[in-house]
Amino acid sequence: MRIDILTVMPELLESPFKHSIMKRAIEKGLVDVHIHNIRDYSQDKHKKTDDYAFSGEAGMVMTIQPIDSLITKLKNERNYDTIIYTSPDGKRLDQKLANSLSTLENIMILCGHYKGIDQRIRDFLIDMEISIGDYVLSGGELAAAVISDSIIRLIPGVLSDETSALSDSFQDDLLAPPVYTRPAEYKGMKVPDILLSGNTKAIENWKLEQSLERTKRLRPDLLK
Ligand code: SAH
Repeated sequence: MRIDILTVMPELLESPFKHSIMKRAIEKGLVDVHIHNIRDYSQDKHKKTDDYAFSGEAGMVMTIQPIDSLITKLKNERNYDTIIYTSPDGKRLDQKLANSLSTLENIMILCGHYKGIDQRIRDFLIDMEISIGDYVLSGGELAAAVISDSIIRLIPGVLSDETSALSDSFQDDLLAPPVYTRPAEYKGMKVPDILLSGNTKAIENWKLEQSLERTKRLRPDLLK
């Protein structure tokens, strides 16, 4: 899979891909992440990428030319399955959406900034708009990192224990059961006996019960 991220603040995306699972996925060659600075494609003599809103609202709006030039250049190089714009009014990211995006070959993610982007970009250049939640961020960069992380960990071979993505919360509309590690007892706080019993079948049943109980208590909407 290849992910191209389009931003005016590439520095904001330096760290997320340099650590942990995303770093390993890139090193293993399972995903290719390219960060593009929209500013490099501005034909303005000061390399401007934003301008005042026609409606007179406070705040700057990202202009269409540099974004169009960059998207056109990338589209000339390869086919993209989808071009995503990160937006608070987009489709809410969930595990189901992450699963379906993880099967794609090439995706582009456009990060907005300031007051947002010229509506014509959304109308004519974008295929899909994704929100990471009902709150407003200063820019789409953190959202692009969240979207990428949720997708990349699902690519086969990325997680060393392949089943571990399957047992995560939401994969089967259930929250994950609690997990424990050593020591079995700490300051009087004990790990449930069943986990020390060695009885695999009983442990599996316990995990399912815990998942169901947690989901009922915390996210009853998932059980519907
Ligand atoms: N004025 C816009 C918000 C602009 S915030 C509005 O009210 O809808 C600046 C940029 O941050 C947006 O263009 C978008 O790319 C990104 N962003 C903000 N909140 C986001 C969210 N919840 N999910 C995804 N991207 C978001």
